[in-house]
Amino acid sequence: MAGIVVVFDFDKTIIELDSDNWVVDELGATDLFNELLPTMPWNSVMDRMMRELHAQGKTIEDIKEVLRSAPIHPRVVPAIKKAYALGCDLRILSDANMFFIETILDHLGIRNCFSEINSNPGYVDEEGRLRISPYVDFHSSPHGCTNPCPPNMCKGMIIARIQASIAKEGKKRMIYLGDGIGDFCPSLKLKEGDFMMPRKNFPVWDLISQNPTRLRAEIYGWTDGEELEQVLLKLIEKISVEERNSIQLLTADCKFESIPLAAHEALPPPLKVHQ
Ligand SMILES: [Mg+2]
Ligand SMILES: [Zn+2]
Repeated sequence: MAGIVVVFDFDKTIIELDSDNWVVDELGATDLFNELLPTMPWNSVMDRMMRELHAQGKTIEDIKEVLRSAPIHPRVVPAIKKAYALGCDLRILSDANMFFIETILDHLGIRNCFSEINSNPGYVDEEGRLRISPYVDFHSSPHGCTNPCPPNMCKGMIIARIQASIAKEGKKRMIYLGDGIGDFCPSLKLKEGDFMMPRKNFPVWDLISQNPTRLRAEIYGWTDGEELEQVLLKLIEKISVEERNSIQLLTADCKFESIPLAAHEALPPPLKVHQ
């Protein structure tokens, strides 16, 4: 479906946990990480942690090895491959970093499924140390968003940019999947006809539950990779059927032709999270 853009958060949405925590914990640096966290933004702590790990002799290959072992639900990769095979435009919007995400996607063999990855820059410098920098330079030009967005990234602004760029390509509908506090702001940018897929009982779910009237998109929750696959594929099917029906209406030449029954009847009604 060329008319569908699916935007995935990465940590705790595609993979089961937070990639930053996973790397720090697996390389035995949890204590220092927790010590630094109250003193500077998360993203800056990660850059500092990479310096510490490099000083301790940990190599890029050590980091890659840890990333390749990050747990992922067995239905997530098939769901992504299927959505891609159906022609959806898949993108990632994450507050992790490019290096972690690309390493994991390459390992999973699904890098080519995504047309765009929006995340904090991450690159290996000439000394072989991983550098992580903020997506938004919050010292020189803070994003100024009043929603609960971290200083280095407002996902809502990135969604607005994607919406503006895809608007040039004609009518498109968006499905957004996420779990975290930072996924709330983009959920507010979604339009009528779009779908928000918050992970149930995670921070974004709680924020949406407290502010259901602020969303224009229909809300479909999911708990794990299996439900993620089921709900995502049913929403893609639902949109496909609606588009087919509207094309048939357009080509019916004003004759009152019967409209095929929607094939998406198996999909439960959208969640009324405020009830
Ligand atoms: Mg997340
Ligand atoms: Zn924001």
